[in-house]
Amino acid sequence: MAQIIDGKQVSARIKQEIKEETTRLAEKGIKVGLAVILVGNDPASQVYVKNKEKACEECNFYSEKYLLDENVSEKELLDLIEVLNNRDEISGILCQLPLPKHLDEKTVINAINPEKDVDAFHPVNVGKIMIGDYDFLPCTPAGVMELIKETGIEIEGKECVVIGRSNIVGKPQAMLLLHKNATVTICHSRTKSLKEVTSRADILVAAVGKAKFVTEDMVKEGAVVIDVGMNRDENGKLCGDVDFQNVAPKVKAITPVPGGVGPMTIAMLMKNTLRAAIKKCSGMLK
Ligand code: NAP
Repeated sequence: MAQIIDGKQVSARIKQEIKEETTRLAEKGIKVGLAVILVGNDPASQVYVKNKEKACEECNFYSEKYLLDENVSEKELLDLIEVLNNRDEISGILCQLPLPKHLDEKTVINAINPEKDVDAFHPVNVGKIMIGDYDFLPCTPAGVMELIKETGIEIEGKECVVIGRSNIVGKPQAMLLLHKNATVTICHSRTKSLKEVTSRADILVAAVGKAKFVTEDMVKEGAVVIDVGMNRDENGKLCGDVDFQNVAPKVKAITPVPGGVGPMTIAMLMKNTLRAAIKKCSGMLK
């Protein structure tokens, strides 16, 4: 039977370590603070923001939440970001995406000081991830790497296949695996013979956004399968991109949905916020 990789447990352990570090920093007078901005009333975004607030509490972070009206102007949003960029007690700034259509996401992301960009979406941080010299880890892909570590499998030299090439998951995921010396293939909607490619994978990461897309015949026996997807099945139940029930018996290790990658993304966001605070105060820590 496959190892079910427990993202809840791993994320709880990481948040505990972060809390201990936050306490040590507090003794030196260093505060770790996260500002979260939510524009509008998107229900999914409201849940994500609530989970992030809860994680801040668990890590003993100082946190601020800004709930902005659906019709807020771009200038008002950019002015708020500018104020937060310049406040010492705010180590990290997160603007929950997606934004309402009248706001340009690129402009908003670019307005966040890269040193406070704990989502690692700013082009400066994206570039740093590309060259492998980064301050902030891309949250979801970094969470995936932690879960792979849990299996004890060595990444170096392995065939890794990532399904999906989005800027927030697929591409940075491939980069992190490459930095660990894997042989990496990225698949997308125009990939021919997808099954042939995925069947080669020692480690398969699915970030497609289609319920139960990865079926048993697409997976190599004994592979490690990481499911990033968060979808609803035909009964409205949360499910991943992998047909868990049929794939699990065939593989060495697999993540469940929920309880796999999801909690790890938030834990990695907390780690980035801690890093931001440490980096800013590195002079005080010497
Ligand atoms: P996205 O931007 O929609 O990207 C989906 C990718 O899947 C695209 O690159 C697309 O290819 C590819 N794809 C679509 N149909 C395909 C097919 N038939 N064969 C092969 N590839 C196909 O989605 P995303 O933002 O990366 O998110 C992916 C999933 O992860 C979603 O379910 C999302 O909710 C979830 N997610 C979870 C977390 C978490 O914390 N757990 C975080 C982020 C995202 P093209 O580029 O060719 O269109």
